Amino acid sequence: MSSTALETRSVVKTYQLDGQPIHAVHQVSLQVRAGEFVALVGPSGSGKTTLLAILAALLAPTSGQVLVDGHDLAKMKDAERVAFRREKIGFTFQANNLVPYLTAQENVELMLRLNGQLDRAGRERARELLVRLGLGERLHNLPSQMSGGQQQRVAIARALIHRPALVLADEPTASLDTERAFQVVQTFAGLIHEQGRAGLMVTHDLRLVAYTDRVIQMQDGKIVRVYETRDEIEALARGSEGALGARPAPRRAPVQDVRAPALPSAPFVPLPAAD
Ligand code: ADP
Ligand code: MG
Repeated sequence: MSSTALETRSVVKTYQLDGQPIHAVHQVSLQVRAGEFVALVGPSGSGKTTLLAILAALLAPTSGQVLVDGHDLAKMKDAERVAFRREKIGFTFQANNLVPYLTAQENVELMLRLNGQLDRAGRERARELLVRLGLGERLHNLPSQMSGGQQQRVAIARALIHRPALVLADEPTASLDTERAFQVVQTFAGLIHEQGRAGLMVTHDLRLVAYTDRVIQMQDGKIVRVYETRDEIEALARGSEGALGARPAPRRAPVQDVRAPALPSAPFVPLPAAD
């Protein structure tokens, strides 16, 4: 098995709107290795969500190829693709889509249940993952009994529990305050590194890219720039780099402390339970 968990080749998605073509995604070729955490940034409408939906095998591209763990999504029959997605891909979207009548623990276990992998060890892993995400006190609460941020962390646990090759996250910190967003992305990055997943995260908050290994910038459906070195990535996170930069400094967040990127070897600190 190759260590390239995700590869796209010239992926295009063209919508027709009132007879006019909209190139939502245009000739996107990228690779993400196992254990690599990549940020996808770009202005609203630049094609990030469309690309993620294609990578999640939820949307067929107009043309181009997507290989997940070496398997070409287009070559699968529909039922095969559904099973493949359930086993190999984890995702969390802005609307977290938790099942309202299941507890946090049950929502996470659901991914294992769907894959026929729910056993005692799986239940324990689900519990540990939730504890690690600061939800140790919330295991048996329903989504309606949790804050938006807590729900998002349950969704992150659910995206990782079945040991997918590829983890996709569309704005996973959208309903978190700044400080909590930093903590959650740091934990998320740590889990991706430690477990050897390939992670791709869309974010509007450029400060969060400090925790990623590479930043892919999109505009008008195309990749316009890739930030690869630590210096480039940190300059982007500071807002002193690129067209997207120059964001005001946060008032509350302890930016100096949290900006240090989580190195793969960094020790893990479980998040405090409070939200
Ligand atoms: P982003 O997530 O970067 O904001 P999107 O992927 O949502 O961007 O959208 C990219 C472009 O494709 C936008 O111009 C959007 O209006 C268009 N688009 C997205 N979905 C559809 C659709 N179902 N039909 C027509 N146009 C769409
Ligand atoms: Mg979007």
